[in-house]
Amino acid sequence: MGETFSGGCFCGAVRFEFSEIFDAGYCHCSICRRFSGAPFVLWVNAPGRS
Ligand SMILES: [Zn+2]
Repeated sequence: MGETFSGGCFCGAVRFEFSEIFDAGYCHCSICRRFSGAPFVLWVNAPGRS
């Protein structure tokens, strides 16, 4: 990818940074819609730290 992405949770307790992903998708279940306040959520899986 060559690009680094960063983000974190709403309260700021968790921060993350990644530059590789191995899976991605979206969900429109009632939990994801309620949690995000959006009609669907996009997500990615990134490798953990080794
Ligand atoms: Zn969901």
